[in-house]
Amino acid sequence: MDRVSAAVIGSGFGGLALAIRLQAAGCHTVIFEKRDQPGGRAYVYRDQGFTFDAGPTVITAPDCLTELFTLAARSMADYVTLLPVKPFYRLFWQDGFSFDYSADLVDVERQIASKAPGDLHGYKSFLRYSERVFEEGYVKLAHVPFLDWSSMAKVAPQLLRLKAYRSVHSIVAKFIQDPHLRQLFSFHPLLVGGNPFTTTSIYTLIHCLERKWGVFFPRGGTGALVQGMLKLFQELGGRIRLESEVSEILTRGNRVVGIATKTGETHECDLVASNADVVHTYDHLLRREPKIQHTRKRLAAMSYSMSLFLIYFGTRRQYSNLQHHNIIFGPRYRELLKDIFRRGRLADDFSLYLHAPTRSDPSLAPPGCEAFYVLSPVPHLGKLSVDWSVEGPRYAARILEYLERHYIPNLRNEIVTQRIFTPQDFHSELNAHFGSAFSLEPRLMQSAYFRVQNRDANLIGLYLVGAGTHPGAGIPGVVNSAKATAGLILDDIRKAVVSRSSNQVQRLSYA
Ligand SMILES: Cc1cc2nc3c(=O)[nH]c(=O)nc-3n(C[C@H](O)[C@H](O)[C@H](O)COP(=O)(O)OP(=O)(O)OC[C@H]3O[C@@H](n4cnc5c(N)ncnc54)[C@H](O)[C@@H]3O)c2cc1C
Repeated sequence: MDRVSAAVIGSGFGGLALAIRLQAAGCHTVIFEKRDQPGGRAYVYRDQGFTFDAGPTVITAPDCLTELFTLAARSMADYVTLLPVKPFYRLFWQDGFSFDYSADLVDVERQIASKAPGDLHGYKSFLRYSERVFEEGYVKLAHVPFLDWSSMAKVAPQLLRLKAYRSVHSIVAKFIQDPHLRQLFSFHPLLVGGNPFTTTSIYTLIHCLERKWGVFFPRGGTGALVQGMLKLFQELGGRIRLESEVSEILTRGNRVVGIATKTGETHECDLVASNADVVHTYDHLLRREPKIQHTRKRLAAMSYSMSLFLIYFGTRRQYSNLQHHNIIFGPRYRELLKDIFRRGRLADDFSLYLHAPTRSDPSLAPPGCEAFYVLSPVPHLGKLSVDWSVEGPRYAARILEYLERHYIPNLRNEIVTQRIFTPQDFHSELNAHFGSAFSLEPRLMQSAYFRVQNRDANLIGLYLVGAGTHPGAGIPGVVNSAKATAGLILDDIRKAVVSRSSNQVQRLSYA
């Protein structure tokens, strides 16, 4: 292939996966990353012998990762080891009920039978439903770009058949009656930024996806997976520039011609793919470009996922009552979600995810110690404007006190290191619109064709990848978005829509 040059803005999982695909296809690719480490939301903090993955920890659909190494004629096992996690999650309720959820059907059915025998039949029907959604929504469509109405019209009958207009919770409630089990089988959208009561039922596919392929954790933490992907990219000849925040995407006529960094450097290239937040890309990086006014307006009217409040902490002892992934439900479910997604209220109660990775990999903490993070979903900055520099330490104290009272006795005396990450940090560190943790909310009318498209319709050579694009947030989501985007780019290169020689070609549309 003619040596086409590409700039990828951001090194989240989506950016890295796209950069690997482009470099493997012979495209000169440079990643420009704002922060001092790659990985985006999968940043890593290290302190006093503790390793804290900042973000994603539940690794699912490993095949989409393996594929990146295979297409470069490598074996992923030579770069990173994925350890199976069992159970997938331990779920706790304040009334003392708990449930170990895994792919072991016999064990899951035994626990359902002892809690609500009447729901066994409904659970089996739910499983069958989720398998159908998985086939249609993931296997067939996750990596396929939706660029026009006709592509959406083609899948509309399947979406209707699968009742994609209904929410995850309403589908689960159709099959399952017990309130605890309804929470258990409907919480998954929260992992990708959605409210189970409004997220399209297509996201029930996560349930099947986990059962089919398992839940994994990279040895050494999610950061080790990021490093493995970066190593692959660099071995292929790709380059990464850390601490290089892009300040503008440069255009000439209807074509993208390069990027400028905050330090005043410019970098010319044939195409630019932004893995940065979609609003940041259109509002800030393309602020001088009138051709994308329509997209800017559309983005302003869309709804954004919740934000998160996180505490990373290490203890000088270990806690055997916990599993690697712990979901802790507070006293309210629907009303708490309304506080977060609709009312924009910082509630007095919380539901938490507690990450205890030393359960799978003791190397992440000094001997006898344990590394944790606890995450509380909170409203984004567009719904709740509090000064997190004041509220953050107060909120952290409340969460730690709650954990100590219910789950981790004497916790506060055992903590040897601690740091917090607030919605304000999502905004300032990651350039996330409203400090949203997962970009656009996963609603039906913000999915597929209605999401931000993987190729911009107005500027030749501009592509998007990551959580704000199709199919959406989560590692499988953004890695599949990279596949969709790479497919479009390589196709455009073949058709000479983008290439060195095509810099003179003025194509006004891709039609
Ligand atoms: C706390 C947390 C826990 C999560 N847990 C899970 C999980 O267990 N499993 C799962 O599958 N998913 C999980 N997710 C979701 C998942 O992490 C994200 O959806 C995914 O990693 C986002 O990847 P991305 O490609 O969109 O890029 P991001 O990770 O959003 O990275 C974008 C990158 O762009 C950079 N950038 C921004 N602006 C610029 C600029 N102007 N110039 C240069 N660089 C720029 C940023 O610094 C960042 O590195 C979690 C998310 C969070 C926040």
